[in-house]
Amino acid sequence: MRWYRRLHWQIILGLALGVVYGALAAAQGWTDFTRDWIAPFGTIFINGLKLIAVPLILASLVTGVASLSDLKKLSRIGGKTIFIYIATTVVAVTIGLVTVNVLRPGQQVPEAMRLELQETYAADASASEALADTAKERGPLQLLVDLVPENFFAAAASNGSMLQVVFISILIGVGLVQLPETKAKPLLDFFESATALVLRLVDLVMLIAPLGVFALIASTITSVAGDDPGRIAQLMGALGYYCVAVVVGLALQTLVTYPILLKLFTPMPIRTFYTGIAPAQLVAFSTSSSGATLPVTMERCEEKLGVSEEVSSFVLPLGATINMDGTGLYQAVAAVFIAQALGMGLGVTAQLTIVLTAVLASIGTAGVPGAGIIMLVVILEAIGVPSAGVALILGVDRILDMTRTITNITGDACVATIVASSEGQLGRPDLSEERDRIRIRA
Ligand code: ASP
Repeated sequence: MRWYRRLHWQIILGLALGVVYGALAAAQGWTDFTRDWIAPFGTIFINGLKLIAVPLILASLVTGVASLSDLKKLSRIGGKTIFIYIATTVVAVTIGLVTVNVLRPGQQVPEAMRLELQETYAADASASEALADTAKERGPLQLLVDLVPENFFAAAASNGSMLQVVFISILIGVGLVQLPETKAKPLLDFFESATALVLRLVDLVMLIAPLGVFALIASTITSVAGDDPGRIAQLMGALGYYCVAVVVGLALQTLVTYPILLKLFTPMPIRTFYTGIAPAQLVAFSTSSSGATLPVTMERCEEKLGVSEEVSSFVLPLGATINMDGTGLYQAVAAVFIAQALGMGLGVTAQLTIVLTAVLASIGTAGVPGAGIIMLVVILEAIGVPSAGVALILGVDRILDMTRTITNITGDACVATIVASSEGQLGRPDLSEERDRIRIRA
């Protein structure tokens, strides 16, 4: 197949054109035109993905759970998944801490720039603090309470309640297993056919991925640059080193930790894994949302990497909501960076507190754009660094959000592959692009 017909190359092309157009638009002051005529295509693409997320979780998880022969298997897969998720996040946060302590980006920010950044972003910083306060007020068991919805339709109506949908789906699946076969069959057939349909819908939405990605990147660039394109260069001058620290950490986690885990625990060739997951990574980068990327991650894992539906439909929705390796790593780098820039030394206890709080904060971070920085405030408070310090990094947060979301979804896919392999549920990868093309049947 010619290279340009492959989906990920088309998306990369959209991305590259988006960067070129975005830079041009920022320089020429086409902000309004971009907002009115380009950005909506990005919104349409994201909405299309979000539209399928809930039906996909519901249909495929019910089918997956109902096909489990015994429920012991479900708790075994669940325990394994949560253990590996937490372990990979601890590794990610540790990598973040080592990177920021070695590179020391906080010492590179000129004093004048530090004051200016704090002044410019003071209002945004206090908005994040207020949101973090609300998050902190929740009791320790609130996470469990939130899991159980009081109304099926209310839970399914909001993309923010994916864990509740996971809960409902498991409940329905378990119930179906216990029904007599004649009663269960019609519903099972329905959910099975619904799963197949939704996976085809992902293919349909992905048809506009190159255009959607183009629009998302272009509008992100123009909105970060605002009316003053010189600002990006200025911000990069002061915070470039910090960005490098975050990206180096993320690259280590994505390109070293995951390949090692895949090599140790699965027969999956590394190259196959990355080629299979590439379109999801590109969508994660352009949408900055693991939640919106979930349908693509699931489709790629099931159809291209050979992860069974039973594993992928359980592990991936859970991962998109609680497993945020990239976010945890970024939070560790950002917390230490802010302390360094404010001239505060952090001892061993503070650094260990960062590991603990960043792991918990990343679990509590929603898979939506910009959620990571709100939980960062909680970490700063835990180590005694003024939370107004987030003002220092707000200017470049959107860009780093894009990169950390790639790591977030790659971590989910890696764990799904490991769990599938350990359960003997990893089929042969299929990287032919045959299914990406929509065939019109006569
Ligand atoms: N945007 C990230 C995600 O959706 C969360 C964050 O770090 O802000 O995965």
